[in-house]
Amino acid sequence: MAGNTSDKLQQLRQILAEVTDLNRAALVLEWDQETYMPPGGVQGRAEQLATLLRLSHVMFTGADVGRLLDGLEDELSSAPFDSDEASIVRVTRRDYDQARKLPPDLVAEIARAGSVARPVWEKARRDEDFNLFAPYLAKNVELNRRIADALGYRDRPYDALIDRSEPGMTTKQLTAIFAELKEAIVPLVAGIARNADAVDDSVLYRGFDPDLQVSYALDVVKRLGYDLERGRQDISTHPFSTGFGPGDVRITTRVSRDFFNECLFGSIHESGHAMYNQGMSAEIDRTPLWDGASPGVHESQSRLWENLVGRSLPFWRHFYPSLRKAFPEPLTGVDEEAFYRAVNRSHPSFIRVEADEVTYNLHVLLRFELENELLEGKLEVKDVPEAWNARFKSYVGLDVPNDREGALQDIHWSFVSFGIFPGYTIGNLVSAQLMEKIRADIPDLDAQVEKGQFAALLGWLRKNVHRHGRKFTPDELLERATGKPLTAAPWIAYVRKKFGALYGLQAVRS
Ligand code: ZN
Repeated sequence: MAGNTSDKLQQLRQILAEVTDLNRAALVLEWDQETYMPPGGVQGRAEQLATLLRLSHVMFTGADVGRLLDGLEDELSSAPFDSDEASIVRVTRRDYDQARKLPPDLVAEIARAGSVARPVWEKARRDEDFNLFAPYLAKNVELNRRIADALGYRDRPYDALIDRSEPGMTTKQLTAIFAELKEAIVPLVAGIARNADAVDDSVLYRGFDPDLQVSYALDVVKRLGYDLERGRQDISTHPFSTGFGPGDVRITTRVSRDFFNECLFGSIHESGHAMYNQGMSAEIDRTPLWDGASPGVHESQSRLWENLVGRSLPFWRHFYPSLRKAFPEPLTGVDEEAFYRAVNRSHPSFIRVEADEVTYNLHVLLRFELENELLEGKLEVKDVPEAWNARFKSYVGLDVPNDREGALQDIHWSFVSFGIFPGYTIGNLVSAQLMEKIRADIPDLDAQVEKGQFAALLGWLRKNVHRHGRKFTPDELLERATGKPLTAAPWIAYVRKKFGALYGLQAVRS
């Protein structure tokens, strides 16, 4: 490589490193806001975040970055597509062009709106009072629309927002995927409803000591491969994971005495996210490549560990004896197979994050539709609860009793985030698509899991997914890892087989 090129690359990497530091400092402040900050800190924190993110935006979108990118694109035109150099330049260019289209004032306004709306959303949710939150959601809709306008789009405003989080995806593609899923899920849900008694999950509500649950969950995720020398777990209202660099990737969880799934599966889910970040190559640290390929691909890692591993029979064959030792009273008279069945009960429910694997994507479909309609002015904010409840009834078959269990349940609409929800469904599909290939590459995976051995699985993910960070788009990553772009077929086959067996429905076809 010419000295000239490495000079420019070094200059670019220096700027990107400082931008990354500012962004990570903002993430630390956000983590603190969700875990330990007293209520009085809200206003000050909003200002701090706005300042940090404005500085990072100004630094990243400066003329220096543009000039260095121009030069490096010429000089690295023959570098391999998947090399760190070419990838840093390619992904930085994509981010740079998008960021340049967003005026700094808009960026600061987005950050401020999020911090101010968060506590209002929390109060509105607690009080089941959508009207309290409505003006803040209206502001967020307006800001989402301004982002879409600033970025530009060919077909629908949502295209600008989805491409921003899931590069390469369009509203049209997603509409087709959701239609395919709906066609497969609806008959499955109906079949399960006919045999609802086949699975009993009453054991999950027998009362589990909360402190013990938190420490048990932490022990499990440690054994899956979450590295606590470079991580920690705390409690928050809405569980999340956040990474400040390879040496510090944290998770949060929440715990309920009366519902077992919340803490353990929440922790496994977040550790799946965290192991992704912990597995990213050190060479791409402090660059835009040090992150998930997309929120959807990030979600594939959490879902893979939570559902395809954590809700499998081999997993419980391994962990059930220790769980029973930790909670002898509530687990009296329940064997591992019964417990496996309990944690997999499919049952229409109101809360997305508690939804079972079968109905989950219907929750996402609802949000995908409402966000599109809000953005295009086909739905007014004040009518959101009514639209939510009507659609929920038609998709999931339940009457929503209040806004806490309806339109106010997700933290996402308390900040400017349209276009993120489809990532959850993409995550489910990607997890099954990867697992199909993993099973081909590691034929004795189930036997390993049953012995509590997760190193080969984690190693496969590190090699094929984690280390690359954002180097590839979701479809590029899937092509390289599985030989195919995104497809719903493996996920549909997976839920049909698993839930067909659980509910005695072997004959279910769409
Ligand atoms: Zn997640």
